[in-house]
Amino acid sequence: EIILAIETSCDETAVALVKNGTEIMANVVASQIESHKRFGGVVPEVASRHHVEQITVVMEEALQNAGITMEDVTAVAVTEGPGLVGALLIGVNAAKALAFAHGLPLVPVHHIAGHIYANRLITEMKFPLLALVVSGGHTELVLMKEHGSFEVIGETRDDAAGEAYDKVARTLNLPYPGGPHIDQLAQDGEPVLNLPRAWLEADSYDFSFSGLKSAVINTVHNAAQRGEIIKPEDLAASFQASVIDVLVEKTARAAREHHVKQVLLAGGVAANKGLRAALEAKFSDLPYELIIPPLNLCTDNAAMIAAAGSIAYQKGKRADWALNGVPGLDLEAQ
Ligand code: ATP
Ligand code: MG
Ligand code: FE
Repeated sequence: EIILAIETSCDETAVALVKNGTEIMANVVASQIESHKRFGGVVPEVASRHHVEQITVVMEEALQNAGITMEDVTAVAVTEGPGLVGALLIGVNAAKALAFAHGLPLVPVHHIAGHIYANRLITEMKFPLLALVVSGGHTELVLMKEHGSFEVIGETRDDAAGEAYDKVARTLNLPYPGGPHIDQLAQDGEPVLNLPRAWLEADSYDFSFSGLKSAVINTVHNAAQRGEIIKPEDLAASFQASVIDVLVEKTARAAREHHVKQVLLAGGVAANKGLRAALEAKFSDLPYELIIPPLNLCTDNAAMIAAAGSIAYQKGKRADWALNGVPGLDLEAQ
């Protein structure tokens, strides 16, 4: 079985070919970061236009890298949502055209399911498992009892982790996307500033990062007013320590409560060096297998959509020619 997958939910135009849901034959990602940088964030209209320009090129490159033709493809999988509606539509329409022209089944995939299934490209998934999803738009703890079943046991009540990283980075005048820059700075700093940690109710697996974000912004402004100097490295390290403490503690507690076999890390913020190291340290003496994907499978790509799409294909999930992009697609309804 060979799945051709298309991902265009945000600012990466991506096409991948994956064999049997686990073996990457090609994984092409055209990033638009350079085009959005000058605006300090993703501009939806610009994103859609780039996807239109890139999608055919990226698709042809993927087939060429894999050394196969459309004759060899079993099904076409595509990100249905969540994401920017105009961006999603480009991928959905490309997938429909391709599936229709070649008489192939069309399989809709949830973007966050894709982030979680990036782990299937590394190792076999064992259930029950817990996924910590930390991305630009999501921060969630997802419990999976079997393939294709998702229970969100905790989620952010305000900003996503990646969003907080990007906003704090903007306060420090770092380029978009800020996450990797904060990560880099934090390596050279000390977490000396006392910033808040939003634990919320004792039994809650929810998250909140807007208070922390505001505390960072206030700290910077107050220091500037008093003419004091705070090392950006220390600010980054302190912010990152606050984020990581809460993520790691809640993940460990949820793993214990739900007696999971594996803990998977997923989403763009999973590329964070501090988070990866803290999870590895915490889980080294806990009885759960911790899986952390390589960096290129953490940020948006289409191989992860193929890995999730292969399971959906096997389960008989199909879309018809009326398939649309759904910006607020529900993970639990998958
Ligand atoms: P979603 O997946 O929720 O729809 P998205 O697809 O835009 O959102 P991703 O591509 O999964 O998000 O992740 C992008 C986010 O990851 C950005 O906020 C970026 O700053 C953050 N990020 C990437 N690398 C790092 C890093 N090393 N440290 C912290 N954050 C990072
Ligand atoms: Mg992106
Ligand atoms: Fe994403």
